[in-house]
Amino acid sequence: MVFCVNWKGRGWAMEQLLVLSGKGGTGKTTVASALIELLGVQACADCDVDAPNLHLALSLTGAERVWTYVGLPRAVIDRDVCTRCGRCLEHCRFGAVTGEKDGFRVDPFACEGCGVCEAVCPVGAVRFRDVPAGEGRLVSGDRVFSTARLFMGHGTTGLLVSRVKEELAGEIPEGMWAVIDGSPGIGCPVIASLKGARVILAVTEPSRSGLSDLRRLVDTARTFGGRLGVCINGSDVSARLTGEIEGYCSQAGLPVWGKIPFDPSVPRAQQEGRSVLSASPAVREAFSGLADTLRRVLVETDDGEQEQSVQTNLKKKEKTDEDRRSQ
Ligand code: SF4
Ligand code: SF4
Repeated sequence: MVFCVNWKGRGWAMEQLLVLSGKGGTGKTTVASALIELLGVQACADCDVDAPNLHLALSLTGAERVWTYVGLPRAVIDRDVCTRCGRCLEHCRFGAVTGEKDGFRVDPFACEGCGVCEAVCPVGAVRFRDVPAGEGRLVSGDRVFSTARLFMGHGTTGLLVSRVKEELAGEIPEGMWAVIDGSPGIGCPVIASLKGARVILAVTEPSRSGLSDLRRLVDTARTFGGRLGVCINGSDVSARLTGEIEGYCSQAGLPVWGKIPFDPSVPRAQQEGRSVLSASPAVREAFSGLADTLRRVLVETDDGEQEQSVQTNLKKKEKTDEDRRSQ
């Protein structure tokens, strides 16, 4: 088994181990960084484009390429052409057009680029302009790392996440696994993260909101297929709530792939810029257990695909033989 991405055009035929959490602050990135180290992963991406921080937990060396992400074009009003009829202001559903003493203008942060103002303008005073909405980084060294950050006030995070994966896939050979640190929640960036993920690790914590968010995440992730399992971070903080999460997982047919006890040496290691695996022997052991389980899951997933491909080939051969016999 090799760790990188098998990218087939935009069909998202990728080998991805995706780490997700229903909300921020559950330790998703900590888990992802530990797995990248322990599994010896050579390709990884941080798809939390609203608040990327996986790079802080990894030692990254090599050439860096920075790229600009252009989101949806935003409207601008050419004041030399505008006759101040006010139609655009009247029809803009997003309140992005303002009428001022010296003319009409569009607030670029409120504009959704829907094009209505352009359609209703009688004199063609509305133009569309590409606006940088984010910035991406691709680091190619011993390990290939892709990430991006969204600029303030911009949306289309799903497209940006897709671009992050596309950049990673374009840099590495086919047939390997990549670890993807996804976004928290269940919105557009998570949907884009989920596309093509073969194995999904949902990180949760023993709290009421942790369980509630896990349920929503599982409902979302299951619509995409992929093999799904759970990691309970800080599992010893509440034995009762950890038990409730395990009960839910059992009912939902979800394996608990790992339980990581809370250890104050973890935030200390992170504050000092050290690997989380250096925090304490107990922490390393807990993450190693999770990594061992995931290694088995990835091997089984690979084997499952090979078996499927063998079965498909056998069926094709049987059909060809049958056709020949009937001729
Ligand atoms: S493009 Fe749409 S959102 Fe933007 S100013 Fe025009 S009508 Fe409003
Ligand atoms: S619809 Fe056109 S002409 Fe009328 S205010 Fe808007 S930009 Fe100006």
